[in-house]
Amino acid sequence: SLTIGIVGLPNVGKSTLFNALTKNEVLAANYPFATIEPNVGVVGVPDPRLDKLAEIFQSQRVLPATVDFVDIAGIVRGASEGEGLGNKFLANIRESDAICQVIRAFKDDNVVHVDGKISPGDDIETINTELILADIQTIEKVLPRLEKEARVKKDKQPQLKAVQAAKDILDEGRTLFSAGLAQGTEEAAPLHELHLLTTKPFIYVFNVDEDELTDESFKDEQRALIAPAEAVFLNAKLEADLAELDEAEALELLHTVGQEQPGLATLAHVGFTTLGLQTYLTAGPKEARAWTIPRGATAPEAAGVIHTDFQRGFIKAEVISYDDLVTTGSVPEARAAGKARMEGKDYVMRDGDVVEFRFNV
Ligand code: GDP
Repeated sequence: SLTIGIVGLPNVGKSTLFNALTKNEVLAANYPFATIEPNVGVVGVPDPRLDKLAEIFQSQRVLPATVDFVDIAGIVRGASEGEGLGNKFLANIRESDAICQVIRAFKDDNVVHVDGKISPGDDIETINTELILADIQTIEKVLPRLEKEARVKKDKQPQLKAVQAAKDILDEGRTLFSAGLAQGTEEAAPLHELHLLTTKPFIYVFNVDEDELTDESFKDEQRALIAPAEAVFLNAKLEADLAELDEAEALELLHTVGQEQPGLATLAHVGFTTLGLQTYLTAGPKEARAWTIPRGATAPEAAGVIHTDFQRGFIKAEVISYDDLVTTGSVPEARAAGKARMEGKDYVMRDGDVVEFRFNV
């Protein structure tokens, strides 16, 4: 499955955040036989639609979609030169599908900042610079060979051009993703085999003081630093506390700081969409469940997420949109109202589709 790597300077609250993430019970409670690696936190993506479906179908349990966060050992200035844990760090990021930067904004004289002062903008630049430098190094390593190959083989020239263009972007201090060269896109295809770090999407988590959670002008200032990437504002210590409480207590604590939901829930949502994922829903007496598919997946591909046999033997899918199901109140009534659609193998799934697949075994 796709993963999001958590990075950040030392002492910004990464471990605190990661511990809060792993205290989330989703995986342990629902997938008792899953093996979880110690540096992976599997977080449920809260989805109130599932609770509603569970009501309609009298489901025994609710299974949300999940996002995997990987705790990546601390970045330090000089990581791109293999300093400290540099090499391992870079290898871990390479394996992630998105990068989540944790940035310190909280003030606490007892917690030392590596650079002696709290400055989100400088921290972001430090980390981005390391990632950009690492990519420049990767490119410089392959350029001589590419140039030689392109001299003899004409068909290598587009790749050489693309790599040179990427280097120009990096030399200007820009990430490849921000320049439109996102991992997995056609534009970035000639760069694919280089596994460049800055082609990955970035999410920025600002670890802020509690009073800053509701300070819109402060948050706008931080957003301006990283736009158009997504910013999540949370207090890591508060998130760790929330993870220890039951739902009612957690809600009460959240209200005291002017919040409706935990920052982790927001982070899970942002992470999920940043990875290019969406869900479709199934429901029955056993469970109401969200299944993860890439945006643009067809009905047979969606069926394959449940079981490969479902994809192979796919006949059709009976689809009711969540809103129609809730309005009509049940599957038979949705059918009677003409709201149940029979979709074939070319159907592209939409978010909120409630589905039952028909297939040959
Ligand atoms: P890491 O080095 O990035 O993993 O940072 P840690 O999670 O170990 O946190 C470093 C220190 O900052 C620890 O003493 C934490 O208790 C403290 N800390 C983390 N988050 C917060 C926060 O939101 N507010 C305050 N005041 N301290 C925090």
